[in-house]
Amino acid sequence: MKPQVVRECSALHSLVKSLHLQNLRVGLVPTMGALHAGHISLVKESLKNSDWTIVSIFVNPTQFAPGEDFEKYPRTLENDLALLEKENGNQNIIVFTPSADEMYPKNFFTYVDVAGVAKPLEGQFRPTHFRGVATVVLKLFNMTQADIAFFGQKDFQQVQVIRQFVRDLNVPVTIQMCPIKREEDGLAMSSRNRYLSADARQRALCLSRSLKRAKAMILEEGIRDRATVEAEIREILTHPKHSIDYVAIVDPETLLPQEGAGIQLPVAILLAVRVDDTRLIDNMVIE
Ligand code: AMP
Repeated sequence: MKPQVVRECSALHSLVKSLHLQNLRVGLVPTMGALHAGHISLVKESLKNSDWTIVSIFVNPTQFAPGEDFEKYPRTLENDLALLEKENGNQNIIVFTPSADEMYPKNFFTYVDVAGVAKPLEGQFRPTHFRGVATVVLKLFNMTQADIAFFGQKDFQQVQVIRQFVRDLNVPVTIQMCPIKREEDGLAMSSRNRYLSADARQRALCLSRSLKRAKAMILEEGIRDRATVEAEIREILTHPKHSIDYVAIVDPETLLPQEGAGIQLPVAILLAVRVDDTRLIDNMVIE
């Protein structure tokens, strides 16, 4: 059964109101579409943990900077609906796919600006990104009145940013982070992987490979010197057609470097690398 598709905020509002009146638990999975098994793993988790699941599909213009891939970002709604249809056995999936005008009507002037955890890493390389993400996610929380929302560890910093504003602004929603889904060869699934040529796709494996190597250095070889681990990661990532935005070995809560030259567990390793023209991110938390 095809999931119910809602395009207008007012229609979503009525639906959500009736669900809450029936005391049903609402789960939210925010996405930008071009769905893959990573997104579907979040949907499955939501179906397990709530009565109704709202999957939002919206390529959010405010989280792209000029010159980024907003225009060419893949939009594959028919395919997305077909994938969701397979999960809709109990007919409790709603797809919310608003237009940009619906989300950002004329005279829209309010944004959520998170400091602290939003500032390093992605915040440094994409300074307006998290403002767009936090704004659209708070709007989705308000529109859906979700009890619980599901996000992927793939965007680890994003989850920390969302947790931060949920705490700061007393938003009544539970945030659940779900593990990174990978292709069999280790590549983290991403809607942007479809930009990669066959050759770049092969080279892109260096991200997951470098994280695996770092984990082995830390856990199996007992190496705790941050500079040594970072140097090894950089060597694996380096290629004439790659450019590294960052390799960060940081505290998983603050996303800042740990004190001193050593690594203490738990530690998060986050990467952003341009492979040809495609910017890829990946990460691993080592406990
Ligand atoms: P996006 O459509 O890229 O904005 O992603 C929507 C949600 O899916 C975010 O919470 C992502 O972290 C999550 N997601 C994307 N890729 C993966 C993946 N490979 N594994 C798990 N979750 C993912």
